[in-house]
Amino acid sequence: MVRVLIPTALRQYTEGSKSEVDVRASTVSEALSSLLANNQKLARHILDEQGKLRNFVNIFLNDEDVRYLGGENTKVSDTDTLRIVPAIAGGLEIVEEEQQRQRGDDLALEDRPVKISAREYRRYGRHLIIPEVGLEGQRRLKSARVLVIGTGGLGSPSSLYLAAAGVGTIGLIDFDTIDETNLHRQILYTDKDVGRSKVQTAMQRLHEANPNTIIKTYEEPLSSENALEIFKGYDIIVDGTDNFPTRYLTNDACVKLGKPNVYASIFRFEGQTTVFDSKKGPCYRCLYPKPPPPGLVPSCAEGGVLGVLPGLVGLIQATETVKLILNKGEPLIGRLLVYDALGMTFEELKIRKNPNCPVCSKDPSSVKLIDYQQFCGIEKAPDIAVVGPKELNAEIENGRKVKLIDVREPHEYEIAHIEGSTLIPLGQLPDRVSELDTADELVMYCHTGARSARATDFLRGIGYKKVRNLEGGIDAWAVEVDTSMNRY
Ligand SMILES: [Zn+2]
Repeated sequence: MVRVLIPTALRQYTEGSKSEVDVRASTVSEALSSLLANNQKLARHILDEQGKLRNFVNIFLNDEDVRYLGGENTKVSDTDTLRIVPAIAGGLEIVEEEQQRQRGDDLALEDRPVKISAREYRRYGRHLIIPEVGLEGQRRLKSARVLVIGTGGLGSPSSLYLAAAGVGTIGLIDFDTIDETNLHRQILYTDKDVGRSKVQTAMQRLHEANPNTIIKTYEEPLSSENALEIFKGYDIIVDGTDNFPTRYLTNDACVKLGKPNVYASIFRFEGQTTVFDSKKGPCYRCLYPKPPPPGLVPSCAEGGVLGVLPGLVGLIQATETVKLILNKGEPLIGRLLVYDALGMTFEELKIRKNPNCPVCSKDPSSVKLIDYQQFCGIEKAPDIAVVGPKELNAEIENGRKVKLIDVREPHEYEIAHIEGSTLIPLGQLPDRVSELDTADELVMYCHTGARSARATDFLRGIGYKKVRNLEGGIDAWAVEVDTSMNRY
């Protein structure tokens, strides 16, 4: 279904005053016909006597005006969103403003041509009466362009508050879709959004929070090829990613372009945050010149994260971003703030610029972006023997004697496990290896396959030849073989 967003001014003409209507359509024109067939009162506000779109009504497909695509014949697909933007709701004004703001690209924040409208005076009233913000600060906020990398646990609260605070342009990069396991922390999304595109859903949510903010979306993985081109259009980069290749890439691109990188990372109950600005302090590589070996630091999917944790940490990022824009206060440059939710403590560690840093000690123009997957050793080890869930199930049904070893933690085993498996948590494996017979056919499994790949590697390294890894872990097993199993 294609989602059609109805502007406030026109909602009264839909059945039940809806803000959005889902329709089945393959082109913009079909979507409008379907919408108007069921909401006839709406038609005369959108179409003229000849049935053509009225010239003060614009239709946007995701973030693009359809006039610049294929007009009413533009193709639409199920994840798309159409937005009706009539001039009366201020829609045209914002398009013009965006063009005007883009023209101010190379200017300093304070010199960019932005206007604060009468309605914005009211909206930002509680900002305008703080001396540190005031009209000057609000203009700086509106002039600012902030790129948020990752619209997950950290990007949700940071982008939402940045939009609410009046940041003029926010870019969102993510290419994920919303999964049920995201909802306990990624507060931009609701239950009904599962399966939808993260950036598109985030864009809608931010637009609702503050229609004055221009949201740009990049639904693609950040890579050495596109990073500089995307970063160039922004003043500040907010790093809310969950993987090392993107962190190193973000750092190196920020150093090269001289842009501040508002950094945070989260794990279980702990968050770390700082501002890397290589012109004034250290960069990420001064702190961590090289990534840890693959698999040593578990991701949120593997290690878990307390749902409320990224809320606080993401808001520290938003706060630092606002301070940088206002040019007020003491930024976290050269200070790593470590937050422990269990102890409810904030510790501050001094971090220094490394005079031999492989990146920021060089002339920025000589900094080259590299292949970060390779740098982080993420390339899949080809020598690990793997077996897929369906394949393994067929083997078992055919009577092949297979010994299943579950390398997760006991509390995970309690949620779900494969019948007949033996629990040996990865950390205990070296001490309990004597329980395993080299003559047996072993299949190792964990939640999604990463920990068990290490277990497989380890066992092969000490002479177990008949050991395989269950690809995709118990989660894939629950999807492909036993759908009655609890997933987490
Ligand atoms: Zn450095």
